[in-house]
Amino acid sequence: MVRIFLSAGHGAGDPGAGAGGTTEDREMRLVRDATVAELRSRGCDVTSVPDYLSLIETISWINDRARRGDVALEIHADAYGNTNVRGASAYYAEGNEQRESDTQLLLRSLLESVSGLPSRGVKPDTSTGVGSLGFCRQISIPSILMELGFLTNPSDRALMQRRRKDYANGLADGLQAWSEREARRQGLTPPPPRAYPVISIKINGQFYRKQGILVNGNASVPVVFFKSLGIDPAKATGLRQVNYRNVAYVKAVDLQQFGVSVKWDNPNKTVILTTK
Ligand SMILES: [Zn+2]
Repeated sequence: MVRIFLSAGHGAGDPGAGAGGTTEDREMRLVRDATVAELRSRGCDVTSVPDYLSLIETISWINDRARRGDVALEIHADAYGNTNVRGASAYYAEGNEQRESDTQLLLRSLLESVSGLPSRGVKPDTSTGVGSLGFCRQISIPSILMELGFLTNPSDRALMQRRRKDYANGLADGLQAWSEREARRQGLTPPPPRAYPVISIKINGQFYRKQGILVNGNASVPVVFFKSLGIDPAKATGLRQVNYRNVAYVKAVDLQQFGVSVKWDNPNKTVILTTK
């Protein structure tokens, strides 16, 4: 099975940036551990790079173990003198269009999961102060470096510390999708497909046989229910859809803008939709 290598930046005696009583090294290890746990729960083969390794050692450690179809991500937090500066960014080796597209996929997945985290976009590694990034260039498998936000910005720091689970979900979503993509490029078996928990749907007091799914904790319903909910599909084209087993779903909460009230019955794992 293809593997995902995940590295928390710094370590090996280098704490990285420091702010608000914490360090980049500490925060990145915590996010990394939560992401590894999330990926394992989804059946992905993920390898955590040991924290005692320096950057050069990290690169050789991965290269010694990497096989065709594997991917590698290193996570960091930014720091800046102006504490108002915030947002997440992601870096790829300049000129590699495939990697640029993979990097967009990773950043988009993170931003979708961590609401309130601003985007600073994807960037070629040549735009960094050091001119190029070893992690993006010297690893034999596709590799990307992400900055998950500014440790020096209180809002970003609070997101990293209080919404770690959202970071883990967003990073896991992106890594899983990237790993599937890379496995297909290499003609290998992709990691196991995402399995979303199934939920029941009750509309205006009536249960339906067709079921919904929970996507990262969000009750999602098939778009075929638009008719029952009195929603004009032409007016709902802006809604983000998730395609799963050949069915298109939208988040139930996104239907509130169409006058649908949305409740969640947790004991019965049922989303209750009521039209006005
Ligand atoms: Zn760093």
